[in-house]
Amino acid sequence: MNQHTKLPARQFTLVIKIGTSVLTTGTQALNRAHMVELSRQCAQLKSSGHRVVLVSSGAIAAGREHLKFPHLNNSMANKQLLAAVGQSQLIHTWETLFGLYDIKIGQMLLTRADLKDRERFLNARDTVHALLAHNIIPIINENDAVATSEIKVGDNDNLSALAAILCGADKLLMLTDQQGLYSCDPNTNPDAQLIKRVNDIDDDLMKIATGSNSTLGTGGMTTKLQAANIATRAGIEVFITSGLSSNAILDSLNSDANCTTISASDNALENRKKWILAGPTASGELTIDDGALTAITQNGSSLLAKGITRVSGTFNRGEVVRIKSLQGTLIARGLISYSSDDLTKIIGHHSNEIHDILGYDYGSEALHRDDLVIF
Ligand code: GLU
Repeated sequence: MNQHTKLPARQFTLVIKIGTSVLTTGTQALNRAHMVELSRQCAQLKSSGHRVVLVSSGAIAAGREHLKFPHLNNSMANKQLLAAVGQSQLIHTWETLFGLYDIKIGQMLLTRADLKDRERFLNARDTVHALLAHNIIPIINENDAVATSEIKVGDNDNLSALAAILCGADKLLMLTDQQGLYSCDPNTNPDAQLIKRVNDIDDDLMKIATGSNSTLGTGGMTTKLQAANIATRAGIEVFITSGLSSNAILDSLNSDANCTTISASDNALENRKKWILAGPTASGELTIDDGALTAITQNGSSLLAKGITRVSGTFNRGEVVRIKSLQGTLIARGLISYSSDDLTKIIGHHSNEIHDILGYDYGSEALHRDDLVIF
């Protein structure tokens, strides 16, 4: 896939965790040229309507670089000193690079304590959502300068999983210095195979991951799998891939990408569907024709604008609507992708006409099948 390849039409929220080994490309200093390449891909995702959140490591490495590699012992206070100096360098670098694409960023420094306490969690969540709503890229790191070990998450792999839950992300991409998870250590065994798809993180897989490690940064494959376990249980799809190659971010979203993809848990989807069923009162109602009725009830398809014959009620994108047949029978409930105003203009039309009619689109489905509960 190159930078002109069309991205999936359905908009998503993507958290990208960038490890120190990727930011420095294995050297002792931030590799700004490589960071431009990463920023460029984030800008491209944003211009396609996707929401992007970064979890960026590299504060300690940037601190060392800025202070010209001082000889400091490994005490906690010295690490905090390096993080305090380096975090401002790191964020300034991101600000400059995203500025090339006219994108603003917002810094969020978190600790486990911020994510454990319900009220602090909700406050942090409101901040992330407000940043995203204003088209700003949140850049998250652990608050290393003040966090003591008791309140730290400790590694940015686990932090990225918690951040993905905080953001309500659809996908979490962990960029590291390896192509993904291998069947055995590729450095010592030439027969090592890249594991491209993981459906279940079990003990055997954890055993495979043990031992693989990168020298820079905190997390190895074990912490990546721990983090993936948290994220996938929450319904978030996880990708682990090398962030060293050009176009790595965009390539990883390709269906036959050369990376490890870990499926989101089915039960999470069930919970989401339970919530759609039991959750908020429906704000509107759609009537659908017989073709759409067969498509959604028998073929497991999404609902397209073409099959909707009537829209009643006033609702925004993301709200719950009821779906009825032409005979008035209640068929399903779901989270609608278009507002009632938009739908009124596009019903009866082909999905490929949506963009011309509205001047924008939120994907080809009026209601995606993952957001649909059939009675
Ligand atoms: N928060 C650390 C830093 O910015 C990195 C921790 C990690 O890479 O897991 O330097």
